[in-house]
Amino acid sequence: MIRVHVDPDLCIGCGICEGDAPDVFSLATSTVAEVIMDPVEPEFEADARMATEDCPESAISIENGEELETTTAPGADSTDDAEELINDNDLERKIEMKAIVDKDLCIGCGICEGIVPEVFSLQNEPYAEVLLDPIPEEFQDAVREAAEECSEAAITIE
Ligand code: SF4
Ligand code: SF4
Repeated sequence: MIRVHVDPDLCIGCGICEGDAPDVFSLATSTVAEVIMDPVEPEFEADARMATEDCPESAISIENGEELETTTAPGADSTDDAEELINDNDLERKIEMKAIVDKDLCIGCGICEGIVPEVFSLQNEPYAEVLLDPIPEEFQDAVREAAEECSEAAITIE
C-alpha cells in the first residue's frame, strides 16, 4: 500500500492527476490537488503512480508501503507480525523499476547524478544517462527522489 502527497507550492492545479486517478486526487474544493484517499487502496495504486509520473510539476510524491507498513501495521511488535511485514516488504521490493531520461527535456543540471550517481551520469553526454536497467532495489528510493527533484520533470519511472 502507498500514500501520496501533493506539494501545494508546486501544484499548478492543472487537473491531470484528477484525470488519471479521480478516486485519489480532487480539485473540487481547492485550486491545488487534494489527496482524497489515504492510504491509496491497492486497486488505485497504478492510477496514482501514473498521475505522479504525468504531473508536469513533479508535485506528487509517493511514500512506499515499506515505511507505511512498518509504522502503522497493528501488532508489529510481535515476532510473527514482524516476519510477515518483512515478507510483505520483500514482495513490494520485487517490483522492477526502469528509469528513462527525456534528453529533449534534460538541461544537464546534474541534480539526479548528485542524488544517485550509481544510476545517473552526465560523464559522456550533455544530458543525464541511465546507467542501470532495471534499477536495483537499493537505488529505487533514490531514483524516485531524483525524479521528484528534477526541475525539468525529465525523468520518468516505469
Ligand atoms: S497533475 Fe500535478 S500540478 Fe497538476 S493538479 Fe495534479 S498535482 Fe497539481
Ligand atoms: S535532474 Fe533532470 S534536468 Fe537535471 S540532469 Fe537530471 S534529468 Fe537532466
